[in-house]
Amino acid sequence: MLLQRATSARAARRVVSGAARLRAQCYSTSLADVELAAPQPAPLCALLEEEQAMAEAASRFARERVGPVVQSMDEAGKMEADVIDGLFEHGLMGIEIAEEHGGCGATFTAACLVVEELAKVDPAVSVMVDIHNTIINNCVSRWASPELQREWLPRLASDTLGSFCLSEAGSGSDAFALRCAARRDGDDYLLSGEKLWISNSAEAGVFLVMANAAPEKGHRGITCFVVPREAAGLRVGPKEDKLGIRASSTCPVLLDDVRVPASAVLGEVGAGYRYAIEILNEGRVGIGAQMVGLAQGALDRTLPYLHERRQFGTPLIEFQAVAHEVADLTAELHAARLLVYDAARRQETGTPLVKEAAMAKLIASRVAEKTASKCIELLGGVGFTKEYGVEKLYRDAKIGAIYEGTSNIQLNTIAKLVSAQYK
Ligand SMILES: Cc1cc2nc3c(=O)[nH]c(=O)nc-3n(C[C@H](O)[C@H](O)[C@H](O)COP(=O)(O)OP(=O)(O)OC[C@H]3O[C@@H](n4cnc5c(N)ncnc54)[C@H](O)[C@@H]3O)c2cc1C
Repeated sequence: MLLQRATSARAARRVVSGAARLRAQCYSTSLADVELAAPQPAPLCALLEEEQAMAEAASRFARERVGPVVQSMDEAGKMEADVIDGLFEHGLMGIEIAEEHGGCGATFTAACLVVEELAKVDPAVSVMVDIHNTIINNCVSRWASPELQREWLPRLASDTLGSFCLSEAGSGSDAFALRCAARRDGDDYLLSGEKLWISNSAEAGVFLVMANAAPEKGHRGITCFVVPREAAGLRVGPKEDKLGIRASSTCPVLLDDVRVPASAVLGEVGAGYRYAIEILNEGRVGIGAQMVGLAQGALDRTLPYLHERRQFGTPLIEFQAVAHEVADLTAELHAARLLVYDAARRQETGTPLVKEAAMAKLIASRVAEKTASKCIELLGGVGFTKEYGVEKLYRDAKIGAIYEGTSNIQLNTIAKLVSAQYK
C-alpha cells in the first residue's frame, strides 16, 4: 500500500513537474502560444500546462471515485476513507508542498483548480481538500520550523489530514476573542479550551490550534500550535448534523491540558493572529473556487435536461425565458470565476489580495447559491428531488456565505479598503 502511494505520488509529481512550465492554456480553450511569463498580459483564465494537468486529474478523480458515493456520503454524513486515501494517492493533498517534502510543488492556482473540479461533483470533498491544501499545508510550509516541516510536510502530502482550529463558541466572526489558553509549564505548553465547528476533525491526524499564550497582550498573545491527534487530553466531539456539505466532518475539538513541547509552536509565539489573518485571506480564494465549481456543477447537471425535456412540443432550452436565464447564470459564473482566478494569481505574485479575495468569496458564494436555486427551478419537479443532485448543491451552497468569514465580514473588509482609497 505504501509503495503504491509512493508510486502514485511520484506519478502525480511527474505530471506536474514534467510539464513545460511556461506554456499556458486558456481554461477549456487552448491558447498554446500565450506565455504567462511573457511581458504581454495573458487572459485571467490562462493556465500553466501543469495546472491544467492537475485540474484534469482532479476532474477524473471526482467523476470516477467521488461521483459514485456522493449521495450515500451525504445521507450518512460521513466521508469515505477510500476517498481520502485516493486523494492522497493521486497527489491532490500536497499540491503546493515542495517536492523535497513529497509534494507536487505546484501553484496556488493549481490548488484552487483542484478545489473547483472536486466541487463540481461534491463540495464536501472539495472543502476538505481546500482546507488541507490552502490552510494547513501552507501554514506549515510558510511558518513552521525546519524540524516541524521535516516531521509534518511529508505526512501531510502522503497520508495525514489536517484541521484548522480557530473558532470557539464565543468567537466566530470576532475570532481573536478566543479563550483557548496555552500555559507555559517548563519546556512545554498546556493547552486548554474548546474549539467549535472544526472541519476535517473527525478524520484529521494533526490539528493547528490557535491558543493564547499571553492573554494580557490580547490578540498579540495568540499562538499557533501543531498538535498530533494522539496527544493526551485532545478529544474530538460528535459531528454536527448539518444542512449541507454533510460528508465533511464538523466537530468540536476539546483540549484538556494537552501537553505539547515548545517546539510544537508554529512560527513565533504571539504571531498566530497574523498567520490566521494571512492564511484566511488566501483560504477565501479557495472557498471562492469551491463555490465556482459548485455553480458549474449545477449548470452541468441542468443543461442536458433542458435540451432533452420537451413541453408544448418544444425543448425547454428553446423557450427564450429559459435560454436567457441560462445565459445570465453563465455570465455571472464567468465573472465569479475571473474574480477567483485573479485573486489566486495575486497570491502567487505577492500582489495585495485582501479586498480581491473578499470580493471573490462574496460574489462566488452568491453566484453559487443563485445558480443552484435557479437550476432547481429550471429542472422543475425533478430538481426538487435528489435525482439530479442539484438539491444537494443548493444545500451545500449556503455555507459559502458563512465559513472563513461571513458575507457581512467580507463586506466590512471591502468597504474599509475602498473607503481608505478616498480618504
Ligand atoms: C460547516 C462549518 C465549517 C467550519 N469550519 C471551521 C474550521 O475548520 N475552523 C474554524 O476555526 N472555524 C470553522 N467554522 C466556523 C466559521 O468560520 C464561523 O461559523 C464563522 O466565522 C461565523 O462565526 P459565527 O458562526 O460565530 O457567527 P457570528 O460571528 O455569531 O455571526 C452571526 C451573524 O452576525 C453577523 N456579524 C457578526 N459580526 C458582524 C459585524 N462586525 N458586522 C456585521 N455583521 C456581523 C455575521 O455576518 C452573521 O450573519 C466552520 C463553520 C461551519 C458552519
